[in-house]
Amino acid sequence: MFTGELNLLSGRRSLIRIRTAAQSELIEIEREALISLVQTHSALSDIFLQAYILRRLELIARGIGDLILLGSSHSLDTFRIKEFLTRNYQPYSFVDLDREGDVQNLLDRFHVGIRYLPVLIYRRNVVLRNPNNEEITNCLGFNEGIDEEHVRDLIIVGAGPAGLAAVVYGASEGLDVLVVEGNAPGGQAGTSSKIENYLGFPTGISGQALAGNAYTQAQKFGAQLMIAKNARGLNCQRRPYILKFDRQEGLSARTIVIATGAQYRRLPVQNLSRFEGAGVYYGATHLESQMCGGEDVVVVGGGNSAGQAAVFMSQTARRVYMLVRSDTLAQTMSRYLIRRIEESPNITLLINTEITSLAGNDHLESVEWRNSKTREVEKRTITALFSMIGAVPNSAWLQGCVDCDAAGFIKTGSDLSIENLERAHWPLSRCPYLLETSLPGVFAVGDVRAGNVKRVASAVGEGSIAVSFVHQVLAE
Ligand SMILES: Cc1cc2nc3c(=O)[nH]c(=O)nc-3n(C[C@H](O)[C@H](O)[C@H](O)COP(=O)(O)OP(=O)(O)OC[C@H]3O[C@@H](n4cnc5c(N)ncnc54)[C@H](O)[C@@H]3O)c2cc1C
Repeated sequence: MFTGELNLLSGRRSLIRIRTAAQSELIEIEREALISLVQTHSALSDIFLQAYILRRLELIARGIGDLILLGSSHSLDTFRIKEFLTRNYQPYSFVDLDREGDVQNLLDRFHVGIRYLPVLIYRRNVVLRNPNNEEITNCLGFNEGIDEEHVRDLIIVGAGPAGLAAVVYGASEGLDVLVVEGNAPGGQAGTSSKIENYLGFPTGISGQALAGNAYTQAQKFGAQLMIAKNARGLNCQRRPYILKFDRQEGLSARTIVIATGAQYRRLPVQNLSRFEGAGVYYGATHLESQMCGGEDVVVVGGGNSAGQAAVFMSQTARRVYMLVRSDTLAQTMSRYLIRRIEESPNITLLINTEITSLAGNDHLESVEWRNSKTREVEKRTITALFSMIGAVPNSAWLQGCVDCDAAGFIKTGSDLSIENLERAHWPLSRCPYLLETSLPGVFAVGDVRAGNVKRVASAVGEGSIAVSFVHQVLAE
């Protein structure tokens, strides 16, 4: 008999306790031995990994674990904590205080006042009052055991599809590699309900499942992941490079892969921030769809992500209003999605339309929009709005260390002209490799790179290609 769970691979604290029903002999296998076993013994690796993954999914589905979240489902912070735990594959049980009868009694049991909500209770005795993501990470020991002094072969910044691919290839090819992620693995793809054009998944795969599998795969090869840790700068004056964070600490590596992707543009509406997480969302996954079943929702944007969100939400919402600024979807969206939108009886496509205002108290209650051609204004009761209006690159943290185009996307390889390289003081006689930036040994992949094509497959491809050039740089 064997037991165990995904945390055995990551080396994090165990989520559950197991008790034998009869007198038993227990053989404990250390993490290093287990990792070496799953890397070398294919049949056992299949059995263990499948059992671990399925066990974790079951714990998540049944909310069994060491965390209880008390909060209101209308609260922005409750949503943030739920999203953070879900995207980090942490099982938790949720007590919705809007529905719970005896709220005060419940709060008294944990000695918390109503103003400290939401509250996260860990192992029945640690009470975190409206914790930020870093506090949750520290409490759960997500980043424990990561040696911060050690100089690594490769550090990857960002664990979206591009970063996850780089870490899987890097670790499987024997590099000493760490990935640093500001939030949770999966990146933008992790917010997609279903990716249908990624090779090998004819029935589609949710971004969350794709990221979860990639993350487990990376751990199988011994890679480490640091989460809820935003890189704030790169000390690029000397090598090894030092990745800088908020406080004094830094992480050193001989090569760096920048895979920090992009994030959605924000709607130019005055009180937007009041409703972010409380009616305005940037991803359309199972988590959001549960909150707006049977209601009217709005999706803004004309790209593939907006199309996917509209089709996905139409399965649970009463009506989906899809608002597009231009007068056609043809230039921005894949044909298969346009067809599905046209064929969905409860999706209303509104072209030439822009949001003019949002209203509500502590949650979004209504949305107003205007047709730019007819000037007609319409206001509707809407409790959920999905904003998907293009993206800006996450490259500002590099503070000019690498050459970027006018929009901030990082230039690489042959996109770097002789003048660009001279301005950046490129020190080598060779030209930058494919995907290499204006700093030797620093690569940029995926949506943060100038000229990227905004696809999961291309991000994954670039992440894997960069690793082959990392080997060359390390050998120089
Ligand atoms: C809703 C939605 C649906 C989509 N559907 C499809 C689809 O069906 N098919 C398809 O091919 N593509 C799809 N895309 C596009 C695809 O998801 C992206 O092209 C892909 O995710 C890009 O991957 P990436 O790794 O380059 O960047 P991202 O996915 O943006 O990941 C970047 C990661 O870096 C982290 N990060 C950023 N800054 C820092 C920092 N300073 N320090 C540490 N970490 C940082 C972020 O938290 C993030 O996790 C979709 C996108 C969205 C949003």
